Amino acid sequence: MVSRHMRRSRPVLALAFVVSLALTVTSCASSGWNPPSNLAAPLDEVWRHQESTYNNGNLYGFRNYGWDQLFANGGSINYCVRWDSSAHVTAAQRDAVHAALKRQVKKWMDLLVGHNGWPYAEVPVNVVGWAVRDRAQLEWTDTSVDVYVNDIRENAPQCAEPCGRFFHQNGNYANCPGGASRHYDQSLWLTSGFGGGAGGDWGQRIGSEYFMGALAQSDIHILLHELGHTYGLDDFYDWSPDVGGFLMKAGSASRITEFDAWMFRDWWRHLKSRYGY
Ligand SMILES: [Zn+2]
Repeated sequence: MVSRHMRRSRPVLALAFVVSLALTVTSCASSGWNPPSNLAAPLDEVWRHQESTYNNGNLYGFRNYGWDQLFANGGSINYCVRWDSSAHVTAAQRDAVHAALKRQVKKWMDLLVGHNGWPYAEVPVNVVGWAVRDRAQLEWTDTSVDVYVNDIRENAPQCAEPCGRFFHQNGNYANCPGGASRHYDQSLWLTSGFGGGAGGDWGQRIGSEYFMGALAQSDIHILLHELGHTYGLDDFYDWSPDVGGFLMKAGSASRITEFDAWMFRDWWRHLKSRYGY
């Protein structure tokens, strides 16, 4: 399945590359691995640090990075919203949550367009489900998303485990009530009273009040930071390269910086052969 999706995307890749060549006659900075010279050494330092510290030195053995999920789908990501709050949610708020999530994911994905063989001009973000304690909290009656009621794990509502990539990393969603198209790769876990955030292959967790209050913001920086973790980027609590502030160094930047962008592209550079690129 993965290779079929991969081949279908090749024409997009070829087109993006041609456009890039046509528009940048004097520079091919965006078309391959060509970071600014002042970032090359720090990027190398970060990568070697990750190689030695991730998964007991087994960075390349892990198969559920956001990248793996995206390619398993042929270039899209499905989400479940875990509504870990007693507040009510209107249909307009539901749609605004989806729109904000899309915009934040797009900030990362756009960094790859035209870069180093990346095959997707766009990465659709679908919200396929909402999980809640009490159905009455969700003030809509349409069926645009699957609703999961009072399925509790980690003391919080979750979408059905048979539909979750975290629980079925082989991509078998045979027992998902809505079928494979309603599976979810990641959860956007919104917790009332939660400060800071957490992120990983399972998704991103941030405060529900923080997120609902930030829906109109251009850079929802805690979500952006946690999304970085889903695609492999590390934290920098114990050490940091000498490149000034950047998003993944918590508290030192509130948007994706050029250094973050190149760390993200470095993940693509190192994993792309997995997907035949
Ligand atoms: Zn972090």
